[in-house]
Amino acid sequence: MIVMKFGGTSVESAEAIRRVAGIVRERIAQRPVVVVSAMGKTTNKLLEIATRAAKGDSKGALDGLEKLRQFHLRESVDCDAEVNSHFDQLKDLTKGLAIMGELTPRAIDAVSAFGERLSSLIVTAQFKHSGVDAVHVDSREVIVTDKRHTQAAPLFAETNAKLAGSIPELARQHVPVMGGFIASGVDGVTTTLGRGGSDYTASIVGAGVGAEEIQIWTDVDGMLTADPTIFPGGRRVETCSFAEAAELAYFGAKVLHPATVLPAIEKNIPVRILNSRRPEVEGTLIVSDPPPASTPIRSIACKLNITLVNIVSSRMLMAHGFLRRIFEVFDRHETPVDMLATSEVSVSLTVDSTRALDAIRTEIEEFAEVSVEEDHGIVCLVGENIRGCPEVSARAFAALGNIKTRMVSQGASQLNISMVVAARDLARAVESLHREFFG
Ligand code: ADP
Ligand code: ASP
Ligand code: MG
Repeated sequence: MIVMKFGGTSVESAEAIRRVAGIVRERIAQRPVVVVSAMGKTTNKLLEIATRAAKGDSKGALDGLEKLRQFHLRESVDCDAEVNSHFDQLKDLTKGLAIMGELTPRAIDAVSAFGERLSSLIVTAQFKHSGVDAVHVDSREVIVTDKRHTQAAPLFAETNAKLAGSIPELARQHVPVMGGFIASGVDGVTTTLGRGGSDYTASIVGAGVGAEEIQIWTDVDGMLTADPTIFPGGRRVETCSFAEAAELAYFGAKVLHPATVLPAIEKNIPVRILNSRRPEVEGTLIVSDPPPASTPIRSIACKLNITLVNIVSSRMLMAHGFLRRIFEVFDRHETPVDMLATSEVSVSLTVDSTRALDAIRTEIEEFAEVSVEEDHGIVCLVGENIRGCPEVSARAFAALGNIKTRMVSQGASQLNISMVVAARDLARAVESLHREFFG
């Protein structure tokens, strides 16, 4: 068995889905299990509709919903009745949100799950139409999570039992097609795995059924040496390790959801990133122990919208327990900290999410001074070779020239060197580092 996951752009239209059917048909002997994302930008649109409804703009929300219905009907075959019945449910839900005037995480999941519920039905119908013997599987019946709506974590014992008990048998005769991203809690209520979570679904399924390979089909040739939206001159990484891929994903390489490699590591299943528009390209193979890279680093990841928080207190001098107090506050507000640097009396750290930052700031100000600087970015050099190449840092700083780095971290894993720069310098930083390490 192999798991083949197709992302939003790979299933964005009837034409794209026919292309996917062709790719799957060619690999039918490997007994594929297919996982699909919502079509195109559907998840964003659903969230926008829900937000509008909850703010009282029923008309705007229902108009948006109607457009989305027409789009799904236009791009599908042989499933109008099912598509319409899903949109009727969505309409009821949207009206309910407008009446309630609030959008709870549970409601967000109920709405956003429709993207994958619809795409998986539409892909199943198109596959059958194209002569691929597909069978729809509702992921919510096989993937069980905790109740943390919008960021749910799988309960592996339950999930693996359900997957192993149903999918291999189905895949003997048919091509199971499942929606990514969606799941349900033990109480059966719909949950989601977080944005970009369809990659994670693919690896959960792959590990659960003991697949030979997990394939992530997307709109680029594989993991590239730089984020193409920031620096378009990168090249394909042929192979990298699970640890390198996890690090790259965590520091912004959106081509993989950061949790994707975890189930794969557990069962040692290779993960391959492939381009659904250029299926002949070999893509990137991610394995536990790849051949060493010929360059000191494997790739450069980056992310924008990073906020720098500086915490200063003279009480920190020679004291212990200070960091614990700070982290307790972040923890209580469920805000992950990405990078950290300390001096004698100050701590600087970065966060991705500013949702709870005002509350965090107020609490920390009870025992220290806090300043917040928005509009930063992280650039991260990743590679197992960094461990054995002490000159990498020196070369990186020389390449950055006059670009000011606000924070630097070389992690305990010795697999990455991360630097915080102003957002406006990010593209220039990536370009300079890319020139230095990849020519
Ligand atoms: P999908 O819908 O298939 O899941 P995503 O948009 O989530 O696709 O991920 C693919 C995108 O990831 C690419 O189009 C690219 O813009 C972005 N990306 C960011 N960093 C990298 C990288 N290092 N290599 C490849 N793609 C990257
Ligand atoms: N459709 C979801 C999202 O847009 C999950 C995914 O595409 O992986 O976040
Ligand atoms: Mg994605």
